[in-house]
Amino acid sequence: MTAHRPSVSFEFFPPKSPEMEDTLWDTICALAPLAPAFVSVTYGAGGSTRERTHTTVSRIVSEASLTAAAHLTCVDATRAEIDTIARSYWDAGVRHIVALRGDASDPDAGYTPHPDGYAYAVDLVSGLRDVADFEISVAAYPEVHPEAQSAAFDLDNLKRKIDAGATQAITQFFFDNDVFLRFRDRVADAGIEVPLVPGIMPVSNFTSMTRFAAMCGASVPAFLADAFRGLDDTPYERRQVAIELASRQCRELQDAGVSQFHFYTLNRAALTRAVCENIGVAAGGAEPAMAEMAR
Ligand SMILES: Cc1cc2nc3c(=O)[nH]c(=O)nc-3n(C[C@H](O)[C@H](O)[C@H](O)COP(=O)(O)OP(=O)(O)OC[C@H]3O[C@@H](n4cnc5c(N)ncnc54)[C@H](O)[C@@H]3O)c2cc1C
Repeated sequence: MTAHRPSVSFEFFPPKSPEMEDTLWDTICALAPLAPAFVSVTYGAGGSTRERTHTTVSRIVSEASLTAAAHLTCVDATRAEIDTIARSYWDAGVRHIVALRGDASDPDAGYTPHPDGYAYAVDLVSGLRDVADFEISVAAYPEVHPEAQSAAFDLDNLKRKIDAGATQAITQFFFDNDVFLRFRDRVADAGIEVPLVPGIMPVSNFTSMTRFAAMCGASVPAFLADAFRGLDDTPYERRQVAIELASRQCRELQDAGVSQFHFYTLNRAALTRAVCENIGVAAGGAEPAMAEMAR
């Protein structure tokens, strides 16, 4: 049974080249009519995309009629530098920050806090609260963050981020809904009352997704491998399977009372748009404005 129209948000990464920027802009044009609650732009590992993230978010704010959120991490920057970036977002009209610890740019190096920086996401959330009255999202891990001392420590870390002023949590992607629903129960038992938004990753490339999932500590159930087996050279069938699986995942979550979804779009519109339409997120009346914007 499908419930009310869910609220959706879309995550993009900042483009590296003019061609990628065109692709992103086409994607934004294709997804904007779905009237997302917000769209967010990631911040590269090691803070490597500081300018590109800023440029992309600013362009979304100034040219698209969409609410934009900027991801911001603690990596390789002093508190003063991060506060300055946050202030410049506020001045550019950005009211929502996704506050993260981030990872080292060299994955083998491990994370070391900057001596004058915010050590963990919780510290960044507190710092942002002093900069301006942002809406703040933080990350949550249904399968536990890979570096966490324990599941209990990780849950407590989430609670501390909320107590420091975060207004919602967005999860790492997952494919087993029971994992999310058990986590949602533990989050509620911990007294966390802000929205817990599941991160949904429609799978466009099974092989690269499994590599990425291993890095993030997200498990890949056997049914996914079975569904994509033998489809490497049949992009149309692969796409249909991807849409069907992600739609089914969202529908099951809707039946369990979930009404908000955050989509990891990988800067591509087709899968996310098809899944949204399958779960009752129809295109509204924003097409003309976006056509104008695309010129
Ligand atoms: C929705 C979402 C969006 C993301 N966007 C980006 C992005 O744009 N750019 C990017 O680089 N990465 C991004 N990430 C990845 C994220 O940066 C990594 O997962 C990172 O390793 C942890 O970030 P965090 O904010 O969860 O960190 P934290 O909440 O600070 O936690 C990190 C780890 O440290 C542990 N910990 C916390 N406090 C302490 C302490 N005092 N002592 C010891 N251990 C502690 C936690 O249990 C956890 O294991 C995103 C992740 C998600 C889920």
